[in-house]
Amino acid sequence: MTTDHKYDAIVVGSGITGGWAAKELTEKGLTTLVLERGREVKHVQDYPTALMAPWQFEHRGHTTREEREEYFIQSTKYNFDASSKHFFVSDQEHPYVQEKPFLWFRGYQTGGRSLLWGRGAYRFSDLEFEANLKDGVGSDWPIRYKDIAPWYDYVEKFIGVAGSIENIWQFPDGQFLPPFDLNHAEKSR
Ligand SMILES: Cc1cc2nc3c(=O)[nH]c(=O)nc-3n(C[C@H](O)[C@H](O)[C@H](O)COP(=O)(O)OP(=O)(O)OC[C@H]3O[C@@H](n4cnc5c(N)ncnc54)[C@H](O)[C@@H]3O)c2cc1C
Repeated sequence: MTTDHKYDAIVVGSGITGGWAAKELTEKGLTTLVLERGREVKHVQDYPTALMAPWQFEHRGHTTREEREEYFIQSTKYNFDASSKHFFVSDQEHPYVQEKPFLWFRGYQTGGRSLLWGRGAYRFSDLEFEANLKDGVGSDWPIRYKDIAPWYDYVEKFIGVAGSIENIWQFPDGQFLPPFDLNHAEKSR
């Protein structure tokens, strides 16, 4: 069946990158199509383990040997367990060729890996942007921190990043919401 839909922009993938691109494009008035290869994840109803405690899983949250064999790469990620497994791809279903060892962690669904990430939203600094040049590895980044700082501001104001102002150049401060309180263990250190 053919249709006569016309789009100004087509975004492939609905992860943080594609999701943000689609947001910007639609806000600028472009008719935008987002193509996503994975399943649709419906808010709340498709988070079957979100409110489960470890003891409510069959193996206290641990995965089985069969599961680790199926997810032989994904299962090496620190947070791969019975509560998150369903948001990682099966390495047996989606194998890839490694010329050199390469751990490729993937989530094929609406939102991509934004359903898996650790929510650490730190800024790079010139420590990173100048590293290749200083170490003589790869190519020099074509940008420096000052070029990207306004874009960090722009994104942080939308997504909301909590943090405390520390004035450490190699770990730049952002447009922070108030920081979370430290817990007892952190306070006593
Ligand atoms: C466990 C874990 C913890 C992490 N923690 C952090 C953290 O704390 N801080 C941090 O900054 N980063 C973290 N990251 C990294 C961060 O999550 C990713 O860099 C980021 O989410 C990648 O976003 P993306 O949109 O580029 O890619 P993805 O989120 O992978 O999105 C790509 C999308 O494209 C879709 N797709 C792929 N191929 C096709 C196709 N052919 N057609 C249509 N759709 C397609 C996929 O299904 C997916 O939805 C973490 C990652 C993981 C896995």
